[in-house]
Amino acid sequence: MKSSLLEISYIIGSVTFIIGLKMMGNPKTARKGNLIGAAGMTIAILGTIFLFEKRNHDGTIADGFVVPGLVYALIFGAILLGTIVGWLTAKRVQMTKMPELVSMFNGMGGACAALIGLMEYEHNIGQTGALSAIVAGMVIGSVSFSGSIVAYLKLNGSMKKPIRLPQYNVLNTVFMISVIAFGAWVVYASPDSMAILYALFLAALVYGILFTIPIGGADMPVVISLLNSFTGLAAAFGGFLYDNKVMLTGGILVGSAGTLLTLVMCKAMNRPLSNVIFGAFGGGATSSDREVKGNIKDINVSDTAVLMNYSKKVVIVPGYGLAVAQAQHVIHELEMILEGRGVTVKYAIHPVAGRMPGHMNVLLAESNVSYDKLVEMEDINPEFTSTDVVLVVGANDVVNPAAHNDPASPIYGMPILDVENASHIIVNKRSMSAGYAGIENELFYNPKTSMLFGDAKDVLTKLVTELKAL
Ligand code: NDP
Repeated sequence: MKSSLLEISYIIGSVTFIIGLKMMGNPKTARKGNLIGAAGMTIAILGTIFLFEKRNHDGTIADGFVVPGLVYALIFGAILLGTIVGWLTAKRVQMTKMPELVSMFNGMGGACAALIGLMEYEHNIGQTGALSAIVAGMVIGSVSFSGSIVAYLKLNGSMKKPIRLPQYNVLNTVFMISVIAFGAWVVYASPDSMAILYALFLAALVYGILFTIPIGGADMPVVISLLNSFTGLAAAFGGFLYDNKVMLTGGILVGSAGTLLTLVMCKAMNRPLSNVIFGAFGGGATSSDREVKGNIKDINVSDTAVLMNYSKKVVIVPGYGLAVAQAQHVIHELEMILEGRGVTVKYAIHPVAGRMPGHMNVLLAESNVSYDKLVEMEDINPEFTSTDVVLVVGANDVVNPAAHNDPASPIYGMPILDVENASHIIVNKRSMSAGYAGIENELFYNPKTSMLFGDAKDVLTKLVTELKAL
């Protein structure tokens, strides 16, 4: 009876993960999807704690199996502690620091998978099938754990420069092959020695570090997504080992979602994954030598206010700088004032604007911008020709025409927002500094472009005041 209920709780868990993930594909349903997935996970965890029955090898229930009270106390103590730490961290984290948090949480998932391997090895010596799952889960989980910690340190600025050992690509490939060969040997020879397993664990941890240290800090979101798929895979191996459906489903979903996200991010940046892992993008080593020439033109806040007030259609292009300045609320206020004056306002959303997938959607959802105002790149691009004013706020690479015009540029081929087709382009940023890709932007020198310098929040607040006075 108990085991049937446990299976049912796992099926509920699996189904809610799938439904939740599907709902997360749309900003309107994402929050609910997250809650549904979390509810399914809670059911599966409670089911495991209270309904699990220890079985003999022949499948019969082991006699006299009682979980000691101390074990329950330890489990719930750990859950309570983890919940408090996780809740407070997630509540306090700023939106721009989200990739760091995801990286840390992902590292914890990898560590769990590695610990399962370390715990279960001794109980399964001599069983090749089980050992394959144990060793694969432990190795992948360890790589994901140490790689995620390095990614975390890079994102929070503790590890500023990529560390590239001589011939690091060759070194890393040789090291990776050695770790795989070592793991395969452990499965084959099944040595009765925990010291050997710890050596494999250590080698996998070192590989995770070697894999991540040469990659530029700015590429970390892609790497985190990749490591995330590793963690999913490691958890799925745990599911195989315990014949646990919910672990298997959850692991496969994380693994495949992580892989797809990695590929989508690479595609949106027009770079093959190999270039992220082996290249030096974001580290400043690749950039076009082409010099951008021309004059830049300034505009002040009151002229901007007049121009926008008398427009029919305004498109706002949000970018990383909007998130840094935390100007999402004031930009919504600006939008509402303009709409109140009969101006049509839309937001153009580039898939890799900001520093994580969906960054702009989440940021603008925070200030209650209506979802139907957020228009994806493919849909908004044809609309720029009929746009009076484009207001670019803290975006740079996603509007850089070098992606179309300069074959030597590292972003050449990346799809961009074709803001040049609008009648007037106003770019708000603090200086002429480059964005993430570290390259100049000829859009700023376009005769149709006017630069509105300053911090996004300051400038937009002044713009709102000016507009109100008109
Ligand atoms: P960029 O990084 O290209 O540019 C952001 C601009 O914002 C900077 O040029 C900066 O200029 C300006 N800025 C910074 N702070 C402020 C502020 N307080 N007020 C006003 N402006 C500010 O951002 P984009 O969003 O255009 O492009 C994202 C880039 O990140 C792309 O190259 C993408 O490939 C990459 N990327 C995206 C990922 C994702 O998943 N979204 C993941 C990995 C990489 P200044 O200093 O002069 O103010």
